[in-house]
Amino acid sequence: MIKFDIITIFPEILSSYLGESLIARARAKKLIKITTHNLRDFADDARGTVDDRPYGGGLGMVIKIEPVYKAVQSLKSKFKNQNAKLRKVILFTPRGEKFTQKMAHKLSKLDQIIFICGRYEGVDQRVAEKIADMEVSIGDYDLMGGELPAMVVIEAISRLVPGVLGKEALLKERITKSGGFIEYAQYTRPEEIKVKSTLRRDSGQESWRVPKVLLSGDHKKIEEWKGLHGKVIE
Ligand code: SAM
Repeated sequence: MIKFDIITIFPEILSSYLGESLIARARAKKLIKITTHNLRDFADDARGTVDDRPYGGGLGMVIKIEPVYKAVQSLKSKFKNQNAKLRKVILFTPRGEKFTQKMAHKLSKLDQIIFICGRYEGVDQRVAEKIADMEVSIGDYDLMGGELPAMVVIEAISRLVPGVLGKEALLKERITKSGGFIEYAQYTRPEEIKVKSTLRRDSGQESWRVPKVLLSGDHKKIEEWKGLHGKVIE
């Protein structure tokens, strides 16, 4: 079982999403374990202060290192018998290594992943240098916090854990040698839908059809079509 520990100042953001659908089922079946931890519980003062002004000036506040250090130490010690090689501490930051399917495959082999979700103007840089094993970005854009990245990464990893998706769904995944996959277009019934044309002046009928090959029953041709119309995602 893979254990995800998420350190955040907004645990509620995560609870509804991670309590639904296949993720909820995987948790119930004990294929994955997800626990959120409120960073404020590791603050030094009764007010739960976890941020402070940046050295050198500038706008906004920065997440302090001490509560993050205490939270990570506590989560590591709770998992005592663990092989340290099977654990990673990940800090979310837009400066991090780009999250990919390949990275999801590698991370899915671990026992425990501790995620640190930043907020405000970011996290004291010593967290990246001294506490985290990896800095991860989910894309070249700036979000308000690391909670959405945590959900993205957890979902991508969880669907690779045996038993989370049905066997059939996994077989259908066209995994490439390097661990990526080939994604192709999907269609379902009806075979044809007739609509009033919005583009033509005469407002005639248009017919939107499913590609013929998919209805042919010729499995070889269908596989070829899927290969041709697939996008390799590494
Ligand atoms: N300039 C700040 C920095 O470089 O960290 C941006 C801080 S952002 C407003 C607040 C937090 O959101 C970050 O600390 C990080 O945890 C998270 N975040 C924002 N964009 C992200 C992205 N593309 N990938 C991963 N995490 C992101």
